[in-house]
Amino acid sequence: MKITEHLKNAKKTVFSFEILPPLKGQSLNELLEGIAPLMEFNPPFVDVTYHREEFIYKKHPNGLLEKVSTKKRPGTVGICAAIMNRFHVDAVPHLLCGGFTKEETENALIDLNFIGVENVLALRGDAPKTEGRFEPEKDGHHFASELVEQIIRMNNGKYLHEETETSFHTNFCVGVAGYPEKHFEAPSLKFDLKYLKDKIDKGAEYIVTQMFFDNQKFFEFERKVREAGIEVPIIPGLKPITTLGQITMLPRTFFLDLPDALTDELVKCKTNAEVKEVGIAWAIAQSKELVAAGVPSLHFYTMSKADATYKIAKEVF
Ligand code: FAD
Repeated sequence: MKITEHLKNAKKTVFSFEILPPLKGQSLNELLEGIAPLMEFNPPFVDVTYHREEFIYKKHPNGLLEKVSTKKRPGTVGICAAIMNRFHVDAVPHLLCGGFTKEETENALIDLNFIGVENVLALRGDAPKTEGRFEPEKDGHHFASELVEQIIRMNNGKYLHEETETSFHTNFCVGVAGYPEKHFEAPSLKFDLKYLKDKIDKGAEYIVTQMFFDNQKFFEFERKVREAGIEVPIIPGLKPITTLGQITMLPRTFFLDLPDALTDELVKCKTNAEVKEVGIAWAIAQSKELVAAGVPSLHFYTMSKADATYKIAKEVF
């Protein structure tokens, strides 16, 4: 079912979450077993990320490990099929501009349609860590809005090399990313919202936000999104802090602020177990306020580790 229909049918805020494909050489079963407890909270959909590169470790005869970057992390499409078969929930694959030609995108969408996927989250992706700035593939898309356009064209039966409309239409519901603290490349939130609107005008039907730790930033973002004339559902993305290292890693990686009240509590912690407790308590408080405000779904970035999200969901849903 389409995400928009799930949200329309829901009588209250629903629970949803995101997982990452396992690294090469790791089992899918472990991942599926790990997320099984989260099914208690009846998520109507589960997102599966896509990664343009993955790092694997090559062991040399002298015992030293070398970090090797490969082009793409496999698994997103297969995991979507496995999730739908095993848990009977909708799987939402993330689809990137980066690393894909338009034809590869078209082929990926055909595969997704054939396995019964009805929703995709259309994203640009970031530059690989070895490159400074995002560069599309030759004959690939520069921005997520162009990817949205291609998906909608396929929904209308228009394939890349076909002159005329084909008889077979896909029917994807397309989601896109939004950034309460603006995307790091955008000179201002106003600029970023202009291009968020562009994605919606091109046919995207819902927005999932980057994680944030201050609900006021989300509420302010939501207000500005509505002022910009965007009416689609906005799903807040949440991540509980579980290690001390994340105090510096999360702002650096995702270009966001942590509120002083949260960092003050975190730095008092002596162990990661204490950090996790503070992180979970913070996320529970955030979740309760967002549910009270009537958000359509709370979407958790689990990083494929379900225990913290389980504890939060147990308190909130
Ligand atoms: P876009 O919407 O294309 O925007 C990128 C930048 O370009 C913005 O600054 C925007 O303001 C600007 N812009 C847009 N259109 C134009 C235009 N026409 N002219 C000039 N400027 C323009 N990354 C992954 O690699 N894999 C994932 O699975 C993944 N999942 C994600 C899930 C969510 C919910 C979120 C929020 C992010 C995710 N990301 C993922 C990260 C994402 O790929 C990066 O944040 C990326 O840098 C931007 O992607 P976007 O789709 O928001 O890009």
